Amino acid sequence: MIQRSRKHIKSSAASAMLWTIVGVAGAIITEVSGYHKSKPQPTPKPFSEVMQSWPVFITLGLLAFIVIFLFKLREKEQINKICPKCETVSSISVEIDNAKCVTCKVPLEDLEGYYERHSQT
Ligand SMILES: [Zn+2]
Repeated sequence: MIQRSRKHIKSSAASAMLWTIVGVAGAIITEVSGYHKSKPQPTPKPFSEVMQSWPVFITLGLLAFIVIFLFKLREKEQINKICPKCETVSSISVEIDNAKCVTCKVPLEDLEGYYERHSQT
């Protein structure tokens, strides 16, 4: 099992939630408008009638959420790193521990808090 940070889990859940809402809303709109590619004549349904099949939407929504969430979770988490020498910022996978700057050959540092650590006042 690959370790995932809390932040990554949260952002995965957030995007899964967003796509689920968009998907379910799209499905409801499609049903209400009665539009289907196969049918030349749309057969609109009243909103209340569409809403009677809410268990279908809930089930599909849940399934979509789980699938998207797991898919997002499997994606490699990217982190911003900075070269302390040339200050080039690059986005690399968190699983790479000792990434080096391609031009300076020095180890990269986390961008987060970099300027706080390196500010000479
Ligand atoms: Zn560099």
